[in-house]
This record gives sequence, structure tokens and C-alpha cells, in this order.
Amino acid sequence: MTKPLNALGAIALLLTAGCGATGATASDDRPVVLTTFTVLADIAAVVAGGHLRVESITKPGAEVHGYEPTPDDVKAAAEADLVVDNGLGLEAWFARFVAEVDAPHVVASEGVEPLPINEDAYAGRPNPHAWMSPLNVRTYVDNLVVAFSGLAPEHAADFRANGARYRDELRRVHEELVAALAVLPAGERALVTCEGAFSYLARDAGLTERYLWAVNAEQQATPRQVAGVIEFVRANAVPAVFCESTVSAAPMRQVAAATGAAFGGVLHVDSLSTPDGPVPTYLDLVRHDARTIAGALTGTAG
Ligand SMILES: [Zn+2]
Repeated sequence: MTKPLNALGAIALLLTAGCGATGATASDDRPVVLTTFTVLADIAAVVAGGHLRVESITKPGAEVHGYEPTPDDVKAAAEADLVVDNGLGLEAWFARFVAEVDAPHVVASEGVEPLPINEDAYAGRPNPHAWMSPLNVRTYVDNLVVAFSGLAPEHAADFRANGARYRDELRRVHEELVAALAVLPAGERALVTCEGAFSYLARDAGLTERYLWAVNAEQQATPRQVAGVIEFVRANAVPAVFCESTVSAAPMRQVAAATGAAFGGVLHVDSLSTPDGPVPTYLDLVRHDARTIAGALTGTAG
């Protein structure tokens, strides 16, 4: 996992590893792309197709919004050849972080049409969770193809081909998502979650979004927020409510208990799971959330 420290080291590694080694071994001399969170790392790894070593600063299951970078993170970034963030204000810590490192930096969401946050102290700011629309992720892919082609021009044709294939998959997953949620009756199309992270998904699928808090900054629902959601769930006879994997579900379970709505399950937004978990890839994440939402709202989930 170490990088060659000097020219002699690099030559020695080339002699022992040979060219074109793709496994992440001690002799890995591929350019290093450092992303801010696991979802972005997975998308980047698909585009990179093994030509780049893609890593994530935050680990599976970790919360990305209020993350505090460690000295090791700064060191890793200093050794990276490219740093990729989501942008749209997702990584509150990123501007300070990237100011400390020399590696070039690219914003994956550049060019996405943002949806505004409507409530709380964040009202009017862009909603950062643009990846919750697979259609938006096509823009992420385009940005990564350009950035990676600048980083490793000899693999530009592969990056383009990987990107084109992934764009097709993203279109298919978008259609699956819309179809899975199209079965919900007109009066039962409300999606109630902990964080306001589903604005893009709700737009794509024609759902009404309601949440406890706008952005996972404090992760503490105020009594007023809980009361407001309870009122909404009662008024709309919402059958099930949800919370996300990176925050405590306790306040949403309180909503469920107070209203008789089912706790519909855990949704994944801000992090992938570990490889043996339910959402090891971004495409798994979208499919899992669509299935969980549709299952719980139609009463077909366990
Ligand atoms: Zn979030």
C-alpha cells in the first residue's frame, strides 16, 4: 500500500511487479485518487476500471457531513495524485482540508442542476445529495472521465468506455427505481426519513419528501421537528417511516410509536456498507432503497 518514495524505489518496483499490475499490492504504483466518501469511491472505481487506485477518506458506515479529518487523512491527501469531493456543500470540512494539500482537486457534481434545501438553517442552500438521482450520477461520471483522462492519458479510451457503459447502467437503475415506486397509490406517496437526503430521488420517483432534519450536521431532532413529522404522518396516514444507516433511528422510532406507522427500515445515502453488507456498491444502494421504500409503503416488506 506504500508508494514508491524515489526513482530507485520506483524502478525496483517496476522490476519486481512488471508493468500493468492491477492488484492493490505493496508494489502498486498506479496513480492514487482520493475521494471523500465511499459512494463516490465506488463510482470513481467503476470509471477507473483498475487503472487507478481509488480510496475513500471516510470509511463504510461513517458519516461524511461533519467528519473531522485526521492528520493521517491529510498525509494521505498529500500523497494522492487527485482528490475528488462531491461538492454542493456535502463535505463541510473539505475546503479547510484541501487547502492543506497540493494535489489537484475535482468536484464530481459540477454541472448538476441542484435542488434547494427548503427548511431549517440550511434553507436556500443546494441539497448536496445529488447522487440519489442516478441520472445526476451520469454527470459525475462525465467529470471523472475528464479528470482521469488528464491524470492517466494512456488509459483515456478505457475511461471513456467504462463511463459509457456505466451511464447505460445508471439509466437502467433509474428506470428500475421509478418502476419500483410507481406501484404506490396516489394517496400513499410520502417518503418520511431522518435526513432530507431524498429530494432528488423523490423528484425522480414522484414522491413527497418529509424529514426530521435537513442535513446530518447535528443529528438530533428537536421536539418541534419530531412533532411536525408526527403531525404529517397522522394527517397523511403514512403507513411507514424510515431512517438512514449513518444516524440514530431513535427519533424516527419515536415517530412510529406515536403514530402507529411501521418503522419501514434503514435506507442508505451517505455511505456504502462493507463488501459483505447490504449495499457494497452505489447501484446496490439505489436498488436497496427503492425496494425498501416500495416494500414498506405497500406493506409487502417483512
Ligand atoms: Zn447526508
